[in-house]
Amino acid sequence: MMRETPDLLSSADRALVDGVLARQLRPLAKTITLIESRRDDHQARAHAVLEALLPHTGGAMRVGISGVPGVGKSTFIEALGLYLIEQGLRVAVLAVDPSSTLTGGSILGDKTRMELLSQNPAAFIRPSPSAGSLGGVAEKTRETLLVCEAAGFDVVIVETVGVGQSETAVSNMTDIFCLLQLPNAGDDLQGIKKGIIELADLVVVNKADIDLAAATRAQAQLKTALHMLRPASPNWSPPVLTLSALQKNGIAEFWATVCDYRAAMSRSGEFDAKRRHQAQAWMWDLIDAGLRARFRSHPQVRAELPVLTAAVERGDTTPAAAALRLLQHLN
Ligand code: GDP
Repeated sequence: MMRETPDLLSSADRALVDGVLARQLRPLAKTITLIESRRDDHQARAHAVLEALLPHTGGAMRVGISGVPGVGKSTFIEALGLYLIEQGLRVAVLAVDPSSTLTGGSILGDKTRMELLSQNPAAFIRPSPSAGSLGGVAEKTRETLLVCEAAGFDVVIVETVGVGQSETAVSNMTDIFCLLQLPNAGDDLQGIKKGIIELADLVVVNKADIDLAAATRAQAQLKTALHMLRPASPNWSPPVLTLSALQKNGIAEFWATVCDYRAAMSRSGEFDAKRRHQAQAWMWDLIDAGLRARFRSHPQVRAELPVLTAAVERGDTTPAAAALRLLQHLN
């Protein structure tokens, strides 16, 4: 446990690593705060802490949950979390919240959500980091997920709402992506038009207690819609479940389906392959972001960019020629 990059860690950061590995919540929260900090020195420390924690990650089932506001995400996650804790598991809940990027506020970060779960010692709930681009927020959440795994959580739930980008980000960091739907009949099943449903490994029609017939109709429609898509895996056709988060009906069936998925993907080797692919894609995201930042902060690029932008707008030069000229400064 003490052999990973010990020379990079100060004694304070070594204490953070040891505290996280000892499953203590304060060091866990402090480590996440370090990760979310925008200060360069904090980022350097966060990287070293993460490197030290990395050998202890990978042990959780990573579950993505999405759906429009009001569909019942927090009600569902609270019911699921309490169910999992009853089964002897420890549960972390993280959020990727696009609203916090746009407004500085947060839909998902509201402290009153998941009140029972947040008071449970086997649970850890962390609202979305509230600054930066969605890319930045999602990056922090990915790193936070790893820290939670090092802290021994058996299940990490990553929740998101709304715009397509955040759903893609969450599906790219989780093992199974679950989409919650309202039992609306008709054409307006949320997410079908936006292409979100293509990301789903599992679809849940919530609020079945209000009108079971409507929920069953929605289930049939969703099954038809899913049937028309090419499944991401030849070994898994995304099922559609109905449940009531409020009445805690169907929670055990939901979890059994998640476990079925894990078993099927593990048998075929796709479970690990997906994680390897996600790690690689993550690396490339970081490379792209790093190159972009380096490009934009380059003094000659900064000097020439306004001039060349104007020239492109006027039609005095082509976008390709301008791009080539600016990119040459990176050599
Ligand atoms: P979120 O915005 O997706 O997190 O949705 P919430 O969990 O806050 O739920 C929105 C509203 O729907 C709340 O008033 C919940 O009590 C209610 N709700 C959630 N799940 C159910 C359900 O299964 N049945 C019924 N009848 N209401 C529900």
